[in-house]
Amino acid sequence: MSMYRSLNLVMLGPPGSGKGTQAKFLSERYRIPHVSTGDMLREEVRNRTTLGLKAKEIMDQGGLVSDEIVSAMILKRLDQEDCARGVILDGYPRTVEQAHVLDGILAELGRALERVILVDVPDEEIVRRLGGRRSCPKCGKVYHLIYSPPADGVHCDVCGIELVQRDDDKEEVIRQRLIQYHEKTQPLVELYEQRGLLVEIDGSQDMEAVTAAIVDAIGASADQ
Ligand code: AMP
Repeated sequence: MSMYRSLNLVMLGPPGSGKGTQAKFLSERYRIPHVSTGDMLREEVRNRTTLGLKAKEIMDQGGLVSDEIVSAMILKRLDQEDCARGVILDGYPRTVEQAHVLDGILAELGRALERVILVDVPDEEIVRRLGGRRSCPKCGKVYHLIYSPPADGVHCDVCGIELVQRDDDKEEVIRQRLIQYHEKTQPLVELYEQRGLLVEIDGSQDMEAVTAAIVDAIGASADQ
């Protein structure tokens, strides 16, 4: 870490690949913020802002919110003080257009991406995983009914509140999100591969193995 002036990472991968969980872990390890456009949008939905109401309709159908909206959010977020030492982007960029906007924003800040981590998981595994995903409506902690259930099977271990399923984790919406991923986000894999930034991680391994592989990849890039 000391090798970097700032550490700017993108987590790439299908919804449900575990990239959000990994991003949270990396955020603690490297002490840089975890910036998730999905979390930011859900916050807008919770607060019933104009943007949130507009976004909810799209999110509930598994579509993508407009590049303008999410890029404006990211521009504002990356400009904040706590992002000065770097950032872990999760769920952004999601289109080639967004990737170009991100290049511009980072260039403006005198920074560039150090690594793009692709956490890859086959579609069928995704459907299985997301169907069981639940989260706490209060603290946002994420559980899985089979792989990481709460102690009593129903309530958040931390808040004691009943866990909920995200509206967009219903099976037909998951299918739509996967279609969007393959069509609009997967082209980024090649784009970042060509730039020599891409690290591909097998996301179907257990969580600790995925983390170890990512940390290894980030550590290795410090030697170059
Ligand atoms: P996520 O939590 O990353 O799975 O995002 C949930 C939903 O928020 C997505 O299915 C999209 O509708 C929307 N969203 C999140 N990030 C973006 C983005 N970068 N561009 C467009 N839509 C996004």
